[in-house]
Amino acid sequence: MRQSALFWRTLRADPAGAELPGHKLLLRAGLAQRFTSGIYALTPLGLMAERRIEELVRQELRRAGAQEVRLPFVQPLDIWRRSGRAEEDLPELLRLKDRRGEDLALALTAEEAMTELVRRQGVAPSQLPLLLTQTGPKFRDELRPRGGLLRLREFTMQDAYSFDLDRDGMEASFAKVADAYRRVFRRLELAVREVTAANGMMGGTGALEFQLPLAAGEDEIVACSACGYLANREAAQRRPRGGMGSGDLALHPVKTPGAVSIAALATALGCGVAEILKAVFYDRAGTTVMALVLGDRQIDEGKLQAVVGGPLRPLSAQEASGRGLVIGYAGPVGLELTGPAVIVLDAEAQTVQSVVSGANREGWHLAGVRPGRDFAWQAAADIARVEPGDACPNCGGALALERSLELGHIFRLGTRYSERLGLVATGSDQVARPLWMGSYGIGISRLLAAVIERHHDERGIVWPPAAAPYAAHLLTLGGEAEVGALAGEIASSCEGCLLWDDRPVTAGVKFQDADLLGLPWRLTVSRRSLSLGGVELRRRRDGETRILPREEIAGLPAMLLAEDARRG
Ligand SMILES: [Zn+2]
Repeated sequence: MRQSALFWRTLRADPAGAELPGHKLLLRAGLAQRFTSGIYALTPLGLMAERRIEELVRQELRRAGAQEVRLPFVQPLDIWRRSGRAEEDLPELLRLKDRRGEDLALALTAEEAMTELVRRQGVAPSQLPLLLTQTGPKFRDELRPRGGLLRLREFTMQDAYSFDLDRDGMEASFAKVADAYRRVFRRLELAVREVTAANGMMGGTGALEFQLPLAAGEDEIVACSACGYLANREAAQRRPRGGMGSGDLALHPVKTPGAVSIAALATALGCGVAEILKAVFYDRAGTTVMALVLGDRQIDEGKLQAVVGGPLRPLSAQEASGRGLVIGYAGPVGLELTGPAVIVLDAEAQTVQSVVSGANREGWHLAGVRPGRDFAWQAAADIARVEPGDACPNCGGALALERSLELGHIFRLGTRYSERLGLVATGSDQVARPLWMGSYGIGISRLLAAVIERHHDERGIVWPPAAAPYAAHLLTLGGEAEVGALAGEIASSCEGCLLWDDRPVTAGVKFQDADLLGLPWRLTVSRRSLSLGGVELRRRRDGETRILPREEIAGLPAMLLAEDARRG
């Protein structure tokens, strides 16, 4: 491709509004244009890079046995209703109505649509196990898109779904796709870590994330350096601390006027914050949820949702009063509410001898409260956020928190979707059963952003060969006929794998743009390179430079592509 004709423009200065280095480079190197929050257009070079990543993921999934389909991007809302992912559960689902009044939704993920496709067409025993994949746009109505392509509202995603007759089959499919993803990250030179993850909105029975350590990432990973335990903070466990709370005391009221915060209460009573039972209130579909943790802990809402079986929202002060809660003084002993309520007690708080809690009476608390003796609960579970320094669940070592970016997420779904959407298949015993499913997602747009975020230097992008829009950048310096002739020879032998900077601009501008775009190889034809016997070859990654003699130009395409092939 001749650069003079390419629809492309680079920027000399950092664009406003971009903070992460990769985001700046994406815009400076002219790969994308922002339209509005979280919505970008890709230019030809940006799209070429995205397509290369997409094709690489497709190759690896094909190798794992996947067959490709295309699902609708605009979907009937009805399938989302039937799966039980009701509208309130998915605030990121963008809903619309067409002019006939039919409710529609933009694809956010495709568990429903893929299950529906297989149900409509039916699946024969000989077709199992079945792995279906698609690549296409997704839309998530995010409140806070950020970091350029790192967190978009509209993005390209490759998702895959496996269908098996039983749990063992599901496990085998899960392992196969996990392996395919590992190869993808290896080829893109992204050193990801495999992390135990929460199932979140997908439901199911166990998930794994591929996480790239990145200070700007929005996930927090809990890591134990002693044993290698890794989990997303939302799914992380901890060893409960022993010996918490105060000594065994008889239950008695204490006067605490104005002590409505944990800190003020600890000061007023001269006790530690961990000796106080903190109560936090939520609504779960009309039921009041009282979540109880020791006073130095925070509730992990993801864990709490998993316990109560669905999304929660915090109660406003007005709602709390309306349901009979005495704000600042609510506690589990003698609690009387209007309407249904459940108490969820953190596993650590379950073991204390006694604690202080609200007395459900303005200006009063209770001391000497012992769980089990003085109040009961509907569920006791780990509902507290893991904090740095907590004890590792495996080895007791100190846990640390690290920022990270999720690049891939794979789920064991079990029969959740097949049951709800009525997808059954018959096994060798002639009994029809719901199929066991797995769901696998890898964000292509995000991979593009992550590749740039990981692979750059002060001069620009340094593409890993597997993702580069072209393998090489050919620069011609000077207008001599001999320069043009050799460049033409190179360009025709490397048809399709190089970008030829044929513009009448200075060598400095050409070198600057070539470094900014960062294709793996720079080929320079100039009077100087000719006097040295051929074309100058410079590798972007490490700056290694040599002269390729004229007579070896026929071997150039194979050489340019070798590096990529070696990793694949
Ligand atoms: Zn450990």
